[in-house]
Amino acid sequence: MSDDAMIAQVVGAHRALAATGQSDLIWGHIAIRDPHGRGVWSKASGWGMEDLTSDRVVLVSFDGEVLVGTGKRHLEVPIHTELMRQRPDIGATVHSHAEAAVAFASLGVPLRAISHAATPFLGDDVRRFTRTANLISTPELGISLAEAVGDENGCLIPGHGLVAVGVDVAHAVMHAVLLERACATQLRAMASGPIRVWTSDAEVASKRAEIWPASSMRAAYAHLVRRAVGVRVDDLSSP
Ligand SMILES: [Zn+2]
Repeated sequence: MSDDAMIAQVVGAHRALAATGQSDLIWGHIAIRDPHGRGVWSKASGWGMEDLTSDRVVLVSFDGEVLVGTGKRHLEVPIHTELMRQRPDIGATVHSHAEAAVAFASLGVPLRAISHAATPFLGDDVRRFTRTANLISTPELGISLAEAVGDENGCLIPGHGLVAVGVDVAHAVMHAVLLERACATQLRAMASGPIRVWTSDAEVASKRAEIWPASSMRAAYAHLVRRAVGVRVDDLSSP
């Protein structure tokens, strides 16, 4: 895939996530693994997800050096580079300051499978990175975050935001969307009273496979991109 195609994917992904309400002014970012192994493609700092354009995208090496593009990289690039170093199975990563995720994490209660959206993150509970709520700006903190995510699809960062990962950009963005939605749904339920009913662990396992196959994740992501930028997703991924 060409550099121009990678840049188009980065633009489409940020605009798609922003359209779901996860933009925080100029903060939060998505990274896509460079197919040639040079590093990760991501948003340059100082721009919002909504106003991302192709000249505001950078390729950052795994050592944090900007290789392509004229902008500065985000301080929190180690979130993406270290997750991708630790997880060769993932092709894209998301970090956002999603509002419901931050509010939910502050309660210190388990995420329950009260909706389809929660199931990609359970087990017993969604993973959490609790070492710091400050910026994850060093490789060492990035490695620590990757350990918190483990082999899961994402984690909450109490006091800060969320991280989501995926085999490709469609999965990573959809995992961010679903985690934020799961937190919002549980907040809404808890505001009305104690939660008494949720899906069993056994059914969560089967729901993960049945409700969220790759075809559905990619179709839902394509829908988000169409909503955000008004073009076919094929136009954003063709070389
Ligand atoms: Zn952050």
